[in-house]
Amino acid sequence: MDADVIVVGAGLAGLVAAGELVEAGKRVAVVEQENAANLGGQAWWSFGGLFLIDTPEQRRMGVHDSADLAWQDWQGSAAFDRLGDEDSWAQKWARAYVDFAAGEKRSWLKDKGMGWLALVGWAERGDGRADGHGNSVPRFHITWGTGTGVVKPFVDAALQAAEAGRLTFHHRHRVTELVTQGGAVTGVRGDVLAPDDAPRGAPSSREVVGDFELTAQAVVVTTGGIGGNHDMVREWWPQRLGTAPKHMLTGVPAYVDGAMIKVAEDAGARTVNRDRMWHYTEGIANYAPVWPQHAIRILPGPSPMWFDALGRRLPMPCWPGFDTLSTLRHLRTTPDLAEHDHSWFIVTQKIIAKEFGLSGSEQNPDITDRDLRALASRVTSAAPPPVQAFMDKGPDFVVADGLRELVDGMNKLTDEPLLEHDLIERQLVARDREVANKYAKDAQVTAINAARRYRGDRLARVAAPHRILDPAAGPLIGIKLHILTRKSLGGIQTDLSSRALGHDGAPVPGLYAAGEAAGFGGGGVHGYNSLEGTFLGGCIFSGRAAGRAAAAAVG
Ligand SMILES: Cc1cc2nc3c(=O)[nH]c(=O)nc-3n(C[C@H](O)[C@H](O)[C@H](O)COP(=O)(O)OP(=O)(O)OC[C@H]3O[C@@H](n4cnc5c(N)ncnc54)[C@H](O)[C@@H]3O)c2cc1C
Repeated sequence: MDADVIVVGAGLAGLVAAGELVEAGKRVAVVEQENAANLGGQAWWSFGGLFLIDTPEQRRMGVHDSADLAWQDWQGSAAFDRLGDEDSWAQKWARAYVDFAAGEKRSWLKDKGMGWLALVGWAERGDGRADGHGNSVPRFHITWGTGTGVVKPFVDAALQAAEAGRLTFHHRHRVTELVTQGGAVTGVRGDVLAPDDAPRGAPSSREVVGDFELTAQAVVVTTGGIGGNHDMVREWWPQRLGTAPKHMLTGVPAYVDGAMIKVAEDAGARTVNRDRMWHYTEGIANYAPVWPQHAIRILPGPSPMWFDALGRRLPMPCWPGFDTLSTLRHLRTTPDLAEHDHSWFIVTQKIIAKEFGLSGSEQNPDITDRDLRALASRVTSAAPPPVQAFMDKGPDFVVADGLRELVDGMNKLTDEPLLEHDLIERQLVARDREVANKYAKDAQVTAINAARRYRGDRLARVAAPHRILDPAAGPLIGIKLHILTRKSLGGIQTDLSSRALGHDGAPVPGLYAAGEAAGFGGGGVHGYNSLEGTFLGGCIFSGRAAGRAAAAAVG
């Protein structure tokens, strides 16, 4: 045997599983198609936002949260409707995960050296129904160091274990087959890829220079989702979201290729909920791309005015930061919009300065580098430097002093001019009249006022309501938004020990799955919708379960 357990994929879920195995005294082989520069996978690139419930950070900000409220929110968002079948384990995972996020999660991670910003973010504010989708309260805890801070303890532990000879990395090894004997998984086979010193996240050579086989008592699959593979995204795109756009950007590195899902299926594992996906509608093209069609997601506050490709304001609850999939559905199923792949934000300088964040560790150097002075400088009337860089260099930004000039500039970013100045002006003027009172009829303005009753939003996230067309708040900024592919919500069905299940519902002997490959637990812990910050935690929780269960099983 080459190892007690093989872990395929050196992203967050794989490293957490490997860490548990090493701690239990097992010999581990980590097999990874990319080079050593990519340790930590997508999580390294992430914003490092974690879903946590009833924490000291929330309490200090005056937020009252509880496991009951979070479970109500989770159920409203997940809307599990395949309970006897594809959701049977997903729902059990969801309950266990909410308990984890309300219980041990914070202290377990804190003991590993993680810490969080004092200000708790409010992501996915929801669809307006108490029992519907969305977070009733702010729960998005941003980790010091962003994604790099999340992966650090697990990367460090793996490197130490490798140094001590208890863990072996097999980089540039791509698994193409799970080896089975008598129905049990006993190893992996695959291609040795040509050495490539491409920097982190950049595409690497797929030239095959050899093959390999490794044997073990068990294999853990932690190979991520399908977001980097647009063909698979299109194939599994659900009818309820209309048609996939002709042109999409990509929110993940190319190695998130989904190829291993089929390999696991060939070994008897069942994948479920493949039609559930989490793609964003606020994507902008990166002016300095690392991976192909590299998109950055804007993390917006609630104030931008959101227009469709034909210049009509999006309806409730399709407001920035409220309901990701309702917005995607609206854009893809409204008959005269389906042929257009973009939508628009119109904001003022005042809004962009206070409300725009960009997702990704490299887009938040102040938090990633734990630079308090730079972080404090966010509270000014200037846009944060990474946002300003997009305003200066990004292909999707138009800045203008007046609306006519703005609309002309926006029309130049599409093949034909689709926006009418007068239509947009009418809607902006109508909305602007609503900000004179705090008890406005306009539901988005009312939502902005409500958000500002949360101290964190008022301090650092939500601009004081003002007229968009007030020159003192300007200049005006138009931003062309693209759909960007990111997360798979479905995946390999697993039980609460992260054992991969077969079509008969029984575990495939020797096979475990965790992280995005397993729908973050159970083959789809999120159901239809995420509450955000739930992906990293899902990798940690399911990776930990896989490592512990595999360690116990191999004896
Ligand atoms: C920019 C960005 C921002 C994000 N922000 C957040 C956030 O704030 N909060 C949150 O909760 N989530 C966030 N996420 C999502 C989260 O980071 C991912 O869902 C999570 O890290 C996935 O981890 P994973 O270990 O399952 O898979 P991955 O990180 O994708 O790792 C899988 C690894 O397996 C390897 N692999 C694949 N196939 C093979 C094969 N056949 N053989 C060998 N190796 C293989 C891949 O090369 C890769 O290294 C963000 C993601 C991105 C990209």
